[in-house]
Amino acid sequence: MAKKLFIKTYGCQMNVYDSGRMADALVPHGYAVTDRPDDADLVILNTCHIREKAAEKVYSELGRLQQLRRRRRAAGDDLLIGVAGCVAQAEGAVLLERAPYVDLVVGPQSYHRLPELLHRHARSRRAELDTDFPLESKFDRLPEEMAAPPGVSAFLTVQEGCDKFCTFCVVPYTRGVEASRPALAILAEARRLVAAGAREITLLGQNVNAYRGAGPDGREWDLARLIRALAEIDRLQRIRYTTSHPRDLGAELIAAHGEVAKLMPFLHLPVQSGSDRILSAMNRRHNADDYRRAIERLRRARPDIALSSDFIVGFPGESDGDFRATIALVEEIGFAQAFSFKYSPRPGTPAASMRGQVKDHVKTARLAELQALLAQQSEAFQQATVGRTLPVLLERPGRHPGQLVGRTPYLQAVHVAAPDAGPGDLIEVLITARHAHSLAARPVARAPAVAPDPPEGRAACA
Ligand code: SF4
Repeated sequence: MAKKLFIKTYGCQMNVYDSGRMADALVPHGYAVTDRPDDADLVILNTCHIREKAAEKVYSELGRLQQLRRRRRAAGDDLLIGVAGCVAQAEGAVLLERAPYVDLVVGPQSYHRLPELLHRHARSRRAELDTDFPLESKFDRLPEEMAAPPGVSAFLTVQEGCDKFCTFCVVPYTRGVEASRPALAILAEARRLVAAGAREITLLGQNVNAYRGAGPDGREWDLARLIRALAEIDRLQRIRYTTSHPRDLGAELIAAHGEVAKLMPFLHLPVQSGSDRILSAMNRRHNADDYRRAIERLRRARPDIALSSDFIVGFPGESDGDFRATIALVEEIGFAQAFSFKYSPRPGTPAASMRGQVKDHVKTARLAELQALLAQQSEAFQQATVGRTLPVLLERPGRHPGQLVGRTPYLQAVHVAAPDAGPGDLIEVLITARHAHSLAARPVARAPAVAPDPPEGRAACA
C-alpha cells in the first residue's frame, strides 16, 4: 500500500509549484498525496522566509508535528517530518539543533533529491540535511509525470534566484543566483500542463522578467520570446508572469503586452517606495521616475493594463517626506491591487543593521494611510468593471449549484451562474456587481479563444 504524503505550503506561488514537484518526485517512490496530515506517513513543511518571524512560526508548527508523531507512535505507527523551502535553506543545521526530531531538511534547489534522502534516512535513521546549490539542475532530475493533474490555472517556474540583493530581502541568500531554464524544457512542460487540462499558465520566477534561457535556435531567449512561443500552444488560453523587477522590464516585453493576445493585461511590478533616497538605500537599482516611465511605456503598449505592486513602509531612514513621495507615486499611477507591509528586519540582511530604524507607531500610521489609499484605488478599479462585458476563464465550481468561479483578464475573481459551462471554459460575461473581494457576473455568450482587443483608454483605477 502506498505511503501517504502531506505537504503544507507557505508563501508564494513558487512554493506552490515546488510542492507539486516534490509530490511528483515522491509518488514514483511509493507515496500517494493526502490532504490530511493526521493520516500522513511523511509531512513536509514547504516554508517561506519572507514574512516576519517566519522561522519561529515553522518551529511552532514543528512542535505540533512532534506531538502528532508521539500520538502516532503510541498507536504503533510512525511519522516522518521534513522541512523544505527557504526557512530550511536559511536555518540549515541550526534547524536540526533546535528541532532534532526533524528527519529531513532540504533546500529549494535540492528537493529533487528527496527520494534519495528518504532512502538514506531509512538506512541510517539519522536526520538528513541537503541545502546545497547543486551543479545539476533539479528540473533535469524531476519526473515528467505529474502526481496530480494541474488546475485550469497552473504555475510553471521558468527562472529562479536573484542577483539584485535588495538590502531588506533574504531571497538571494535562500534561492541563489539568477538561473533560467532552457526554453525547450519550459515549452515541453507547458504542453504537458495543457494536455492535462491547464488553460492558463503563470510563469514564475523571483525575477521572472530577468529570464534569459537557452533557446532551441541556439540563441538566448528573453521572457518576451518565450511568451511568444508559448502563445502558439493550442488550447492554452492565457499567459501571465510574476514577479517582475522594474529594471528588467525591457522594450521587447512591453511590446509583447501590446501584441500577444494571450498575454493577460495584468502586471505585478513591485516598486517598494516612491522616494529615490529610500530606493537607493534599498539597493533597488531604479528610481521613482524609472518606474513612472516603465508604466507609461506599458500603458502605451496596452492601455488597459491593470497594475499591482509591493510597498514597504518605514524602511530605515524613511522620513515623512520620503513617505509622502510614496503616496504621491501611488496617487499618480493608480493600482488595481497591491501588497503593503511595515518594514521588519530580516536577520543577515544589510537593512537589519542600518541606522534610523523607524518607530513602530510611525510605521503603523504610515501603513494605515497607504493601505486606505490603495483600498480606494482597488475598489475604484473593481467598480469600473461593473457593466463591462469581459472574457472569464472558469476555474472551479462555486459554493452554489450552477455557480462557477473564474477570473477576468485583470485577475479579478468572478462568480458566475453558468450551469451549462464548466471549469476550463472561457466564457463572455456581463459584470453585474462588485462584492468585497470578487465580482458577480452572468454569461453573455461563449468567448473567442483569446482575449479581446484592449478597450480604449488607460486602466480604470487611475
Ligand atoms: S529583486 Fe530584491 S526583493 Fe526581489 S527577490 Fe531580489 S533581492 Fe528580493
